[in-house]
Amino acid sequence: MNPMEDKPAGSPIDRKPGGEFNHTAAGPDLGLGSAQTAGAAGSRRSFPNQGESIAAILDVIRRGERFLVCSHSRPDGDAVGSMLATGMLLQQMGKRADLVTADRIPNIYRELPGAEGIRCAMRVHGPYDAVIMLECDSLDRTRLRGLEAFFVVNIDHHSTGREFANLNWIDREGASVGELVYRLAKAAGATVTPEMATCLYTTVLTDTGGFCYGNTQASTFELARELTLAGADPLRIAQEVYFSTASSKLLLLGAALSNLKRDGRLAWLWITHQDMVRSCAAEEDCEGIVNYAICIAGVEAAAFLRELPERTIRLSLRSKGRVDVAAIAARLGGGGHENAAGVTLEGPLHRALDEILVELRPQVAEMAVEPGDGRS
Ligand code: AMP
Ligand code: MN
Ligand code: MN
Repeated sequence: MNPMEDKPAGSPIDRKPGGEFNHTAAGPDLGLGSAQTAGAAGSRRSFPNQGESIAAILDVIRRGERFLVCSHSRPDGDAVGSMLATGMLLQQMGKRADLVTADRIPNIYRELPGAEGIRCAMRVHGPYDAVIMLECDSLDRTRLRGLEAFFVVNIDHHSTGREFANLNWIDREGASVGELVYRLAKAAGATVTPEMATCLYTTVLTDTGGFCYGNTQASTFELARELTLAGADPLRIAQEVYFSTASSKLLLLGAALSNLKRDGRLAWLWITHQDMVRSCAAEEDCEGIVNYAICIAGVEAAAFLRELPERTIRLSLRSKGRVDVAAIAARLGGGGHENAAGVTLEGPLHRALDEILVELRPQVAEMAVEPGDGRS
């Protein structure tokens, strides 16, 4: 189901050649999307409990008509799936939703219902009654420009989540932000269609690393069960996500593994921009490479560094639970979860590697390496 499908011919949505995303029709002025309550600059509200947060968000939705739904740059399964499900929820509530990301949707998520309706743009224009921003800790995290003009609703589940928006609902217990969208949909009395269930199941599957990471709880399986009963097909979704790998990714993995280093409780690996070019790799082919470092027996924390074309370094951090990598990433200007976090650092590669090892080494210094840990 595509939230954009019902747009009439001559829709006000206009994809500009310069990468701008323009919504030119005038909407009702509800005092939400105007400059007076501009983005993070206006009033900021959060509520002490989930019920009030959800009620406040539903109130914003009910009072508005047109919404922009977005998530972080380089969208992952949670970003894509939760955007799509939010678009479907808004559509069921009789609202118009534009789904926009700064970067293209990875191939493995392109089969998700409605994915073809997500637009790629660098800048957004109003008039939206509100922006629903999923799993971002700032407007910058979207890499979309033009958001300052809007009333922003921030829904997040990261441990480093911040109350930067006009309305904030951060639940750090959520296995995925899709889990929060599911609760919102239930509270709104929406029908969780098979299409919505498919998108939401994908958020849970991918953000828990296939029900392996520390955010996997009994309630996560309960959620997966409910979504399966609502029509998500676990086999098909797993095949799309885990068994549809591009061969370029395996070439890239080969390059990364040839740069794999291990020192006691730490392991790291990297790829250069040259490796990317030689493997004909796409951005999304880097997803999951860090797991080959953290999966080593005895390793407690792992880093994957990737040289971007502009020579900055994209860093992915993972932990098995004894090192809080979100705190480290936050110190360096990024964020994430205790067991999975990221940040972009200044290059060159060796400088970024030194910077992260200086942070990681003291974290594992006290951990004795046990017999059998060091097999390498
Ligand atoms: P990644 O290593 O890119 O898969 O990211 C791991 C986790 O950290 C994900 O939950 C990301 O949303 C989060 N994360 C990555 N980069 C940043 C950043 N610059 N700021 C905040 N969170 C981030
Ligand atoms: Mn994400
Ligand atoms: Mn997430």
